[in-house]
Amino acid sequence: MMLLVKNLKKKYKNFLALKGISYEVNKSEIFGILGPNGAGKSTMIKILTCFQKPTSGIVKINNISIDETNKIKPLIGWVPQEETFYANLTVKENLEYFGSLYNLKKLVIKKRSEEILKLLEIENKTNSLASSLSGGMKRRLSIAIALIHDPKIIYLDEPTAGVDPVSRRALWEIIKKIKEKGVTILFCTHYLDEAELLCDRIAILRSGEITAIDTPKKLKKGYKTLEEAFINLIKNENK
Ligand code: ADP
Ligand code: MG
Repeated sequence: MMLLVKNLKKKYKNFLALKGISYEVNKSEIFGILGPNGAGKSTMIKILTCFQKPTSGIVKINNISIDETNKIKPLIGWVPQEETFYANLTVKENLEYFGSLYNLKKLVIKKRSEEILKLLEIENKTNSLASSLSGGMKRRLSIAIALIHDPKIIYLDEPTAGVDPVSRRALWEIIKKIKEKGVTILFCTHYLDEAELLCDRIAILRSGEITAIDTPKKLKKGYKTLEEAFINLIKNENK
């Protein structure tokens, strides 16, 4: 097992944004967290990436608790919902900079950058300013940065939000290729199509609670579409 989340809670003042969620993610799995706006997806990802402390609960990666931040950080990559790269640096310079934060040697960064840019099909943008990239290419740069230190698991927070349909499909192909490299992927989305297409398993998150975890196929059972299943699984606020 790659990732263990057990009874995770997050309270902001007196608002419980995560009400005790639990799930496990296997190695090389694509695990999707599907939930509407405000469900708690970003809150959860910020805890998994050691960016925020949980109020209570257990999170372990490869059996190491996230309290051991120094051991966890090299194992994880994070693509936040907002862009975090430097707009006035080139693609290559961004990778060099973020690689240096992990104390990687220059030569290692160079080799990794070349591999990743090829995998993500942005080699031809190596020397372009990040600010000059299209929306889809900017997302790819964010993903490239998350991969620079060769993490075991990456967290993607709504990776295709605000990206045009053609670029979205290209991003899906890239996510599949990253999985083929043996990287475990957890991503949050409110798009049903990509959850169904990409995920080995999906957890439905509603108001800080997981209401179902299963393969897309099993979640759909008894419904015509995943959308119908999803709508049903996120309603019944008072169930
Ligand atoms: P999602 O990513 O699924 O849209 P978020 O995790 O961003 O959801 O937010 C979950 C809930 O927690 C929302 O109701 C949001 O308003 C609230 N929330 C998020 N961050 C904070 C914060 N720093 N302080 C107070 N409330 C917050
Ligand atoms: Mg969010």
